[in-house]
Amino acid sequence: MTAKQPPPNIDPDEIARFESLAARWWDPAGEFKPLHRMNPVRTDYINRRSPVAELRYLDVGCGGGLLTEAMGALGAQVTGIDMGTAPLAVARLHAEQSGLQIDYRQNTAEALAKESPATYEVVSCLEMLEHVPDPQSVIHACAQLTTPGGNLYFSTLNRNLKSFLLAIVGAEYIARLLPRGTHQYRKFIRPSELCRCIRQAGLEVRETTGMLYNPLNGTFRLSKRNLDVNYIIHAVKPN
Ligand code: SAH
Repeated sequence: MTAKQPPPNIDPDEIARFESLAARWWDPAGEFKPLHRMNPVRTDYINRRSPVAELRYLDVGCGGGLLTEAMGALGAQVTGIDMGTAPLAVARLHAEQSGLQIDYRQNTAEALAKESPATYEVVSCLEMLEHVPDPQSVIHACAQLTTPGGNLYFSTLNRNLKSFLLAIVGAEYIARLLPRGTHQYRKFIRPSELCRCIRQAGLEVRETTGMLYNPLNGTFRLSKRNLDVNYIIHAVKPN
């Protein structure tokens, strides 16, 4: 018997980290607090630019389902994929408790793209690219999964001294907002790099927007100019 090889574009240490924290996913004061705080702003941003009601929506790297559920609550027909077993179990249970019908599947974007190309009118991949070995491959798969004329959203962390100080030193060591080791600086992606990957996947970049954290009131807000730490990109698949 041969040992089962891990699928190519997965970092097992990253998946293990999310597995071990999964039970805490919906605790607004727990390890995923930053995602909870970010969720209203990003949900609103996506739904304003691509009103999601009735649309087929795919959330790649959905974790416990914070954004996935928000999109379901807005009336989208949502599928969420993740490679973590425990995060998906948490997501399924929570959706049931919320009375939402969400199709959660354990899969990679690359594998789903082979099964269901050009299927989803909106695809999001938020706070996940900095946890995979090959982000370009995920972006390419997201492009394949999207219908012509469909919309895509990618968010991640910028790579510079400020993001290192705020997202790693500040969030993991000083404020203890995130567990140590959550992020690796070298995996952060500059907006120019992410735009290049998006274009290489045949997509058009529509807008890049910063998501700024205010530690005084614990909220995020959008900024057209400041992409120094967290940011989100809206792209479109040409017809
Ligand atoms: N997108 C969610 C969760 C972000 S945490 C949100 O923003 O709220 C990152 C998630 O990506 C984790 O749940 C982790 O299990 C998942 N992940 C990491 N690598 C993956 C891969 N190659 N394929 C699918 N999911 C992956």
